[in-house]
Amino acid sequence: MSNTDAPKNFIRQIIDKDLAAGLHQQVVTRFPPEPNGYLHIGHAKSICLNFGIAEDYDGLCQLRFDDTNPEKESQEYVAAISRDVSWLGYKWAGDIRYASSYFQQIHDCAVELIRKGLAYVDLSTPEQIREMRGWAQQPGTASEYREQTPEKALELFTQMKNGDFPDGGAVLRAKIDLASPNMNMRDPVLYRVRRATHHQTGDTWCIYPMYDFTHPISDALEGVTHSLCTLEFEDHRPLYDWVIDNCTLPARPRQYEFARLNLNYTVTSKRKLKQLVDEGHVSGWDDPRMPTIAGLRRRGYTPASLRRFCDMVGVARADSVVDMSMLEAAIRDDLNQHASRAFCVLRPVKVVIDNWEEGHEEMLTAPLHPQNEAMGTRQIPMTREVYIDREDFREEANKKFKRLVLGDEVRLRYGYVIRANEVIRDADGEITEIRCTYDPDTLGKNPEGRKVRGVIHWVSVARSQACEVRLYDRLFTAANPDKPEQGEGFLDAINPASLTVLTDCRVEENLRGVVPETRFQFEREGYFATDADSTDEKMVFNLTVGLRESF
Ligand code: ATP
Ligand code: MG
Repeated sequence: MSNTDAPKNFIRQIIDKDLAAGLHQQVVTRFPPEPNGYLHIGHAKSICLNFGIAEDYDGLCQLRFDDTNPEKESQEYVAAISRDVSWLGYKWAGDIRYASSYFQQIHDCAVELIRKGLAYVDLSTPEQIREMRGWAQQPGTASEYREQTPEKALELFTQMKNGDFPDGGAVLRAKIDLASPNMNMRDPVLYRVRRATHHQTGDTWCIYPMYDFTHPISDALEGVTHSLCTLEFEDHRPLYDWVIDNCTLPARPRQYEFARLNLNYTVTSKRKLKQLVDEGHVSGWDDPRMPTIAGLRRRGYTPASLRRFCDMVGVARADSVVDMSMLEAAIRDDLNQHASRAFCVLRPVKVVIDNWEEGHEEMLTAPLHPQNEAMGTRQIPMTREVYIDREDFREEANKKFKRLVLGDEVRLRYGYVIRANEVIRDADGEITEIRCTYDPDTLGKNPEGRKVRGVIHWVSVARSQACEVRLYDRLFTAANPDKPEQGEGFLDAINPASLTVLTDCRVEENLRGVVPETRFQFEREGYFATDADSTDEKMVFNLTVGLRESF
């Protein structure tokens, strides 16, 4: 899976320089998700970047949960995220790590800053603190607590830790520069009081460090050399460096920023994805329409296709929106090469072959992959009654219709040529049966002196398996759901027709018993994957992607 022949992105160029200058013995990166939701395709880019670099440079990549907001986080998310990273094909170095396991060291760094006169406890209300911070053209103003002595600050911080203040009643702030043009440097909050049970540390702490304080310390404690994050953290880098410079830490990590992955026709924000789940717009985080790793997996995407997609997208510093069709092309290429072929009739109508002997069965042989003999063959039973797709039959049609027409011939793929002679209808006029005859002299050869219209797929009535097929379209109708042409917000751009369930489909009986996530090309229909809901009685398949680009 190594991508050593990938062109060097700017981060790899920096690493090459650092290694040439002897700055590091070994490259260490990390992927630092907050366990407040499932991972999405944007995270896959960060995962491929961090783990890919570690692989190619013989370095290490750690998985570290950035878990400083206990109210929003949970063990369910920890488990889901770890599962997704593994599924993508990456192995983190050592055990899973948690920022929360460094709470004591982070606390000790806070005490060090207080002792150095670089941090103070502010008892102003959150509103007062916000007001005193000023705005871009207006420098901040000092709170009355800013000049407190280190002794007083330490006493107040100890009280914070001991639970003497209510939630929001006190914060520890760094003492940096209230006039800085960078708002992050105007005495940012380092610690706040929160009485929340933490999924890892329980009720040990009632003060929690802020992300900007936690992250550089965690990186340094883990010996991270290159701390890669998305561009919105660029303005936080001076604070990152300030923390590293002013706390006694074992290493000096550096932060580098790259552009987020944005994909059209979907949203990549955990908050919005959570809203889709919580409000029931989708069936869960792993709904096959979701841009989550779990959703894409259930939809039928392979780990290789997602890694390939991330390679294609590349890593740069300029923000851009990637076309959804690029993601679809990545999985289509993969499945075109690797997926077994099968017949599935999505909208079955019965064909009775009058000159086929009752009870007679013949096994026909078909390749599992037309271009790859090594994949072997499958046996398809031919019987007197078969199903074809309703859309493959017309009572009348011109020559452009390359399927079955009344009074004309078509080939059943890998089988015989049949002729439609008559239709039988129910009381509502709906066609219930097409009566046909077959030409026994057409197996593997063309009939003499006639040209058949085309080739269609089919399955035996008695020897096929009932199944449900779920067809998906894009979850949003707007290219940028955050700014829909109509409506106010992303929920207004939801595609009401993103899911079509066909409950009455028939698939080759060979597929009975295949496990979820087995992928197929249903010939002439698209690429499909067995869903987690699939059982032996009622198989369920998800449309992964169509045979060709449809937008
Ligand atoms: P979201 O905005 O979806 O909540 P986040 O940035 O808050 O995402 P984290 O769990 O903090 O989510 O992200 C873990 C890592 O993944 C971070 O290093 C972050 O920069 C990176 N990341 C998140 N979203 C993207 C994206 N769209 N493209 C590339 N990297 C991303
Ligand atoms: Mg984040």
